[in-house]
Amino acid sequence: MNDLQHTLEQLCQALGDDAVITGADISQRHYSDWTGHAPACPAALLLPRTTAQVASALRICNVAGQAVVPQGGMTGLAGGAVPRASDIVLSLERLRGIEEIDPAAATISVWAGTTLEEIQQAALNAGFVFPLDLGARGSCQIGGNIATNAGGNAVIRYGMTRDLVLGLEVVLADGRVLDLRNKMIKNNCGYDLKQCFIGSEGTLGIVTRAVLRLAPQPGPTSTLLCALPNYASAVSLLRRIQRSVGTPQAYELMWQDFFRLGVSWLGNAAPPLSLDYPLYVLLESAGSQEQLEASLEEAFGAGEVLDAVLASSQSQARGLWKIREATGEFPTRMTPLNFDVSLPIGLIGDFVERCRARLDERWPGNHSVYFGHIGDSNLHLTVDCVSLPQPAPILDIENLVYSAVGELGGSVSAEHGIGLLKCEFLHHSVGPEALAVMRQLKDCFDPNGILNPGKILGRGPVYTGVAR
Ligand code: FAD
Repeated sequence: MNDLQHTLEQLCQALGDDAVITGADISQRHYSDWTGHAPACPAALLLPRTTAQVASALRICNVAGQAVVPQGGMTGLAGGAVPRASDIVLSLERLRGIEEIDPAAATISVWAGTTLEEIQQAALNAGFVFPLDLGARGSCQIGGNIATNAGGNAVIRYGMTRDLVLGLEVVLADGRVLDLRNKMIKNNCGYDLKQCFIGSEGTLGIVTRAVLRLAPQPGPTSTLLCALPNYASAVSLLRRIQRSVGTPQAYELMWQDFFRLGVSWLGNAAPPLSLDYPLYVLLESAGSQEQLEASLEEAFGAGEVLDAVLASSQSQARGLWKIREATGEFPTRMTPLNFDVSLPIGLIGDFVERCRARLDERWPGNHSVYFGHIGDSNLHLTVDCVSLPQPAPILDIENLVYSAVGELGGSVSAEHGIGLLKCEFLHHSVGPEALAVMRQLKDCFDPNGILNPGKILGRGPVYTGVAR
């Protein structure tokens, strides 16, 4: 019997035969995440039902030096949950459900395998909102959201996932269970260990339960599309609205190239504003509509806004959002190379100009579009590979974009994480000392390097342990 067979036998004894799947019985959805990157059938798929079973599985794998890849809903966009053929996958899908809603504390306690949409619905039923929201809500799991510190649509108002997590239960690589559950906002009892696991992409521990913050349901919202003369106006308009109306629920900036594309994909519908302005912002506000209109008047007077449409019905608001949601059609209408970066808000306009000029100089005629949640300092840039010489020089484009991000003190990953796909670019945003401390942290939590090897830090010295 080889080492793997021996480990699988121990796992079957600890978890039961129906929780250890091998070979052709492993569904292909466990081979790769949403990116489709490097799909592989793992050596086994574990489907534990309890925290104790997760702990037993990790204890066995740790002793055997067997690599384990945690998986949530497989909607990740960085390759973080992609296994190799020699890895054992541990899926959290059976640790699912709402444990408790505490209306006094305004918290919801959930198992890690619960989908985001189920949590949103349970919160609504109890008269609250769980404000994390992203397009993958029906499939992604809260454990995956926590492991990637997901961002999404409402960050400007409510923060990232990190800001919504009050407590966690986590299983360490050696099988120890850390009970860090907590319902209190103020709680300064030494090091806040839960923060180490939020955004760690399954490399430091496996999240099994979470206590999350709920928010009151917002009142009716107003949806406004404005045409702007330049990037500086986008920033001053945001600050003006925050001062007078309150922080908007969404503040989505679209450069002209993106706006034209989005409108053209709507078919014959007339554009809500002329296509000739340099920039457009779509904003949603739950503040007073009178104050919003007064701010808009002031912004017109200051030359920050050149034209605007305030949606007068839900369907008009939906129509405006459809332009921004053109991103959903990228995979079918383009061959997109997508970037998810962040920069200090004041520098995003410079970055776009710098990036566009360098791309045009190197690959004249290339087609790139720019848009972003700029209130969160997040910019998305998509290059259509069809517009490039073939085969598309993907690595050269990545180097060009991430170098420009690094020059301006930005981050190579705003919200999707590093996973496998951005390991080699991490150094543009994280200095050598900080990278060395990250490696020490990894060594401290997972000295045998069994948890999600190769993700975030690549195959540096930390992975020379016993893991295969
Ligand atoms: P997976 O893809 O399964 O895993 C992601 C990472 O988390 C992996 O490293 C995995 O090992 C680890 N992991 C999973 N579960 C656990 C656990 N319980 N404990 C420890 N580690 C774990 N992301 C955004 O931030 N903002 C967006 O707006 C956004 N929009 C999206 C829209 C679409 C249509 C799609 C397909 C994706 C989008 N994403 C977005 C990316 C993705 O949905 C998020 O990264 C999400 O948080 C991943 O959750 P998941 O359960 O699918 O995790």
